[in-house]
Amino acid sequence: MSTSTSESIGAERAVLVGESSARGETRARELVREASPGALAIERVIAALVIGVPAAGTAWAIAWTAEHGRGGAGLVAFAMMYVLTVFGVTIGYHRLSAHRSFVAHPVVRALLIAFGSMALQGPMIRWASDHRRHHALTEREGDPHSPWRRRVAGRGGRWRDFWHAHWGWFFGSERTRTRRLAPDLIGDPLLRALDRLYLVWVVLSFALPMGLGALVAGDGAGAIAGLLWGGFARVFAVHHVTWCINSLCHLVGSRPFRTNDESRNNLVMVVLALGEGWHNNHHAFPGAADMHMLPRQIDVSGLVIRGLARVGLAREVRRPSPQQVARLRS
Ligand SMILES: [Zn+2]
Ligand SMILES: [Zn+2]
Repeated sequence: MSTSTSESIGAERAVLVGESSARGETRARELVREASPGALAIERVIAALVIGVPAAGTAWAIAWTAEHGRGGAGLVAFAMMYVLTVFGVTIGYHRLSAHRSFVAHPVVRALLIAFGSMALQGPMIRWASDHRRHHALTEREGDPHSPWRRRVAGRGGRWRDFWHAHWGWFFGSERTRTRRLAPDLIGDPLLRALDRLYLVWVVLSFALPMGLGALVAGDGAGAIAGLLWGGFARVFAVHHVTWCINSLCHLVGSRPFRTNDESRNNLVMVVLALGEGWHNNHHAFPGAADMHMLPRQIDVSGLVIRGLARVGLAREVRRPSPQQVARLRS
């Protein structure tokens, strides 16, 4: 892996091994700031809506379909939008932008980030900055969503840690110093433009499945089925699948590689998150575009990146050497 970003992230992890807690706190202060009380109040309301509205919409989808049918149209809209937006997050937001693990044709890059934005997890530059902070400070002071960072003693402690990593951290006051962690992304005019259009992607996130539903069912009720299943229920599913990478994949699963954290490979999440569940592999080799490292491991998002490279739409696809993989085997 030769990208400067992946090298610097890898170097940061190496530096963090064995560092003193005082030094860790200094590092965290460099990368984290406190939100102002006014901004915090607004962002907490937005977080509650982002969590609550898709959940309510999913319940509405079930009730509406029981009365009006159009399940086929809803299913097609759900499946198509699920695959497109999960790839938008795993390939566009995560591997292409946060880790710069390959280089994509500008049109492919814009499409991937647009679909990632339709997953309603915030604009890409903020998402990628938070994620780089997770890798720089994993399970330590300043990690935005570690289930290990704030261990809570007593009954229900582990569940509270799980929920903190899953969605509780949205309500906290820590904010990533984006200029420190993502100057390369902020300095890219295409990425800034895509982020400025975030509300357009939010509208399309619901308009596209409405159109798909109408097309499949051939009537207005199909559009409603598309909106409910391909819009609200799909956002609900993609949210929890992505959030499980932060929560479940640091608690439950196997650890074939030695890493300085609690990251785990979780097979259920490998399937649901289209390859992203190889999370221990990912923490061992964060700059790798393809997360399959050992025989019989399949990474669907990695296969898509390799497919894009084969037809000339991606290049510089980064992968560790077999020797590097062997060295970190536990
Ligand atoms: Zn992680
Ligand atoms: Zn990552």
